Amino acid sequence: MSLSNKVVIVTGASSGIGAAIAQVLAREGATLALVGRNVSNLEATKKSLKGTQAEIVVADVTKDADAIVQQTLAKFGRIDVLVNNAGILGKGGLIDLDIEEFDAVLNTNLRGVILLTKAVLPHLLKTKGAVVNVSSCAGIRPFAGALSYGVSKAALDQFTKIVALEMAPQGVRVNSVNPGFVVTNIHRNIGIVDEEYNGMLQRAINSHPMGRVGDVTEVAEAVAFLASSKASFTTGALFPIDGGKHNLTPR
Ligand code: NDP
Repeated sequence: MSLSNKVVIVTGASSGIGAAIAQVLAREGATLALVGRNVSNLEATKKSLKGTQAEIVVADVTKDADAIVQQTLAKFGRIDVLVNNAGILGKGGLIDLDIEEFDAVLNTNLRGVILLTKAVLPHLLKTKGAVVNVSSCAGIRPFAGALSYGVSKAALDQFTKIVALEMAPQGVRVNSVNPGFVVTNIHRNIGIVDEEYNGMLQRAINSHPMGRVGDVTEVAEAVAFLASSKASFTTGALFPIDGGKHNLTPR
């Protein structure tokens, strides 16, 4: 197993892509700190894991970076990998921008990642560990009408590349996966009705060159690869998991 004896923090492990990441990393032998705010969802993820040690860490990534690190170290004594997966969507473009929502999106998708990565880094330096950020196809190419989210993920991608360069001499790798549309709760969480959601899903299916949306496991498998020594010469990479969508010109 590619992650035996590795202690991995997964943020947003209570839902969607993060829960799938936890399952694939557990299959690969990782010991897991499952981070999120919703305790019952975290418990459901933990229950779905077979034959692995997992600690539930109830925490908000915008505020609790040090507590996440301390609880993980208290339980497992080391940290080998940080998966920054927790994230939220925002609605709309510049004309209808809600600046409070913009702040919330940037706070979770960017500032929270920076704070937690900074808090974990001293421990990754000891283990020659790795960071995997869950970004988006929207970090690589622009989408009209998704301003806050696109800005947050583009900035996250630059963060990935900068920290990868800073840490390369010390043996800590930093990469990202950049998914296209994957069916999870994230789209419904911005408060859209069924009809709107169905239209969004159909447009997503049509706009991925492979003619479908992605599955959580397809993202999780790529995270497991980047987290493991199979990717030992890869750092600063943005790995699109999007059926080819990042290569299309904006429309
Ligand atoms: P979900 O809404 O299903 O899951 C989001 C997760 O993030 C939840 O576990 C939630 O946990 C956690 N989270 C959000 N805010 C916080 C916070 N402040 N502190 C701690 N945890 C938080 O969405 P996805 O699984 O789809 O999203 C996961 C990642 O994948 C995100 O970064 C997203 O941007 C990215 N992504 C998703 C795509 C998609 O189409 N689904 C496409 C491209 C990228 P809790 O509620 O317990 O706090």
